[in-house]
Amino acid sequence: MQVILCEPFVAKPLAFFIRSEGKTVAKTWMCLICGWIYDESTGAPEHGIAPGTPWEQVPMNWTCPECGARKEDFEMVEI
Ligand SMILES: [Zn+2]
Repeated sequence: MQVILCEPFVAKPLAFFIRSEGKTVAKTWMCLICGWIYDESTGAPEHGIAPGTPWEQVPMNWTCPECGARKEDFEMVEI
């Protein structure tokens, strides 16, 4: 009898370090699941994110207030 162990492969970096040469360019991120928009300049104060918070500094465990999607389900968009 053969036993095959199958563990889920979880190997994601805990943090990304993005350097931006001192520029303060607010970006906009959209939830790919429901279309909710996160604007770095306005943040999401009602959801615990202060205005002006860069996307990189939004906690990794933060989720979309509309549908609960994770940060990795968001994509930067140009408006
Ligand atoms: Zn969403």
